[in-house]
Amino acid sequence: MPETLTPSTPTASIPAAEAVSRVAAASAAWAATGPAERAAVMRAIADALDAAGGELIEIAQQETALAQPRLAGELKRTTFQLRLFADVVENGAYLDARIDRPDAEWPMGAPRPDLRRMLIPIGPALVFAASNFPFAFSVAGGDTAAALAAGNAVLVKAHSGHPRLSDATAAVIARAAVDAGAPADLLLVIHGTQNGVEALKNPAIKVASFTGSIPGGRALFDIANARPEPIPFYGELGSVNPAFVAPDAAAHRATEIAEGYIASVTGSQGQLCTKPGVLLVPTGSDIIDALRGADVPAGAPMLNDRIQSGFVSGLEELASHDAVTVLRDGAASRSAEPELTLLLTSVDALLDDPEGIVTEVFGPAGLVVTYEDAADLERVARGLEGQLTATLVADETDADLALARTLVPALADRAGRVLWNQWPTGVSVTGAQQHGGPYPATTAPSTTAVGTASITRFLRPVAFQNFPAALLPAPLRDDNPLGVPQSVDG
Ligand code: NAP
Repeated sequence: MPETLTPSTPTASIPAAEAVSRVAAASAAWAATGPAERAAVMRAIADALDAAGGELIEIAQQETALAQPRLAGELKRTTFQLRLFADVVENGAYLDARIDRPDAEWPMGAPRPDLRRMLIPIGPALVFAASNFPFAFSVAGGDTAAALAAGNAVLVKAHSGHPRLSDATAAVIARAAVDAGAPADLLLVIHGTQNGVEALKNPAIKVASFTGSIPGGRALFDIANARPEPIPFYGELGSVNPAFVAPDAAAHRATEIAEGYIASVTGSQGQLCTKPGVLLVPTGSDIIDALRGADVPAGAPMLNDRIQSGFVSGLEELASHDAVTVLRDGAASRSAEPELTLLLTSVDALLDDPEGIVTEVFGPAGLVVTYEDAADLERVARGLEGQLTATLVADETDADLALARTLVPALADRAGRVLWNQWPTGVSVTGAQQHGGPYPATTAPSTTAVGTASITRFLRPVAFQNFPAALLPAPLRDDNPLGVPQSVDG
C-alpha cells in the first residue's frame, strides 16, 4: 500500500472486480454505437441531470459546503459539457480520419500501400473524481463526458467527500442512458480507496484519469505504470499558477490588480486548481498596500475536513519559513471557516529556496513575492516546476512589452495556459482550451483535461492497410457515409 494512502470510510459499494467486468461488457456495445445514437444518449443524460438539478444540488450543498449559486453554475457547466461532446461526436473530426491512397511513385523508394488511419475507443475508462468540483470534475464531469464521447463505458471512483451525490448522479445517468437506448452499466460508481486501487489494477481497465493531490495522483500513476500491462494515466495534480505583474502595470493599476487578485484567490474558498497562489510585484508597489487594505470575502467552510486540515498545515509550514512574513492574516485564518491570508517574501528568497517557497496551499491563501529587477522574473519563470497556468499582468508600454517578449516564452515553457491581463480561475470549456502542463501539473503534458481536445485521452489510433471498402470502418471509406472530415493524400 503506498505511504500516502489513507483509506476512506467504506461506503456500500459494488466490489471493484464486479464493477469492472460489468462496465467492460457495456464498453464493447457502446463502442459499436453510431454517432447519432451516442450523441442522443449524451444529450438525454444532460437533460436528466438538469431535470434532477434541485435534488442533486441540495445533496451537494450538504456534502461539500459549496454555495447554491456556485453549484448551480457548476451543474450548468456539466450539462453544457455533455452536450458539447455530443456535438463533437456528431461532427466526427475527433476521429482524425486520414486516407493515403496507393502511390506507385511514392518518393520513399517503395510504393505506398493503401493506408487509412483513425482513432478508436481505447476501452473501459476509470475516472477518479475530484473533491472540489462535485459536478464538473466528478461522476458526470469532463473526464466522463470525454470518455463516453470517445466510445468507452466509464467506472467512476467516487471521491470520499461527496459519496451520496456520486450515487445520486450515477442513478440519474443510468436511468437516462438506458431509456435513451444505451447498454446497461454504461457508467458505474465504486467507493473506497482500496476499491479504486483494485479497479486500476484490473486488466480490463484500459485508461485512467484523475484530479487531485500530487501524492495521491503520483501513487496511482505509479500503480498504472507498474501493471503487467501499463495503461495511460492522465493525472491532473498540483499547481501554484504564478502571476507576474510588470512594473508599468503595477504603477498604473495597483488597486484594480489587487482587487482582481483577491477575487481570484478567494473564489470557491481558494479551492481551485488554477488559483494564482503566487503574485510577483515590484518592491514598494502600491499593490502591496492595496492588498493589505482591501475588503475580503467572509470566511466559509472548506470542502471537507481533510482539505481544511491540509490547508492549515500547508499554510503554517509556508508561514514558518524564515524568509516569509505575514502581509495580512484573516482573523479566522486557521479556523473551520478561514478568511484570506496573504504572506510576503522576496524574489531572492524564492530563488534561494524555490521548493520551500513555491508550494501549493489549497485554500484561501496567497504568497506575494517582491522583485527589485524585472530581469529576475525570467529566472523565476525558468526555474518553475510545471504549472497549469502562468499569468502576465502588463501594460502595452515599451518597457512592459519588452519584458513580456522575454518572459512569455519562459512561461509557455513551464505552463499549459499563459494568460495576458486576465486571472486564471474560471476555465472555459471550448475547443481551444488547454488545462494541463508539465509535471507535476499533470502526468501527461501533451494532453488537456478540459475542453473538447480532452477526448484524445480516451482514444487510440489504428491504421488499416490494403482493406476492401466493405470491411473498412465508415469514417475511412471513400464514399464517407457519415460525412466526417477526412484528410485524403495529405
Ligand atoms: P486526493 O487526496 O489526491 O484524492 C483524490 C482521489 O484519489 C480520491 O478518490 C482518493 O480516494 C484517491 N486517492 C488519494 N490518494 C490515494 C492513494 N494513495 N491511493 C489510492 N487512492 C488515492 O485529493 P483531494 O482529496 O481532492 O484533495 C487533497 C488535496 O489535493 C488538496 O488539498 C489539494 O492540494 C489537491 N487538489 C488538487 C486539485 C486539482 O485540481 N489539481 C483538485 C482538488 C484537490 P479517497 O477519496 O477514497 O481518499
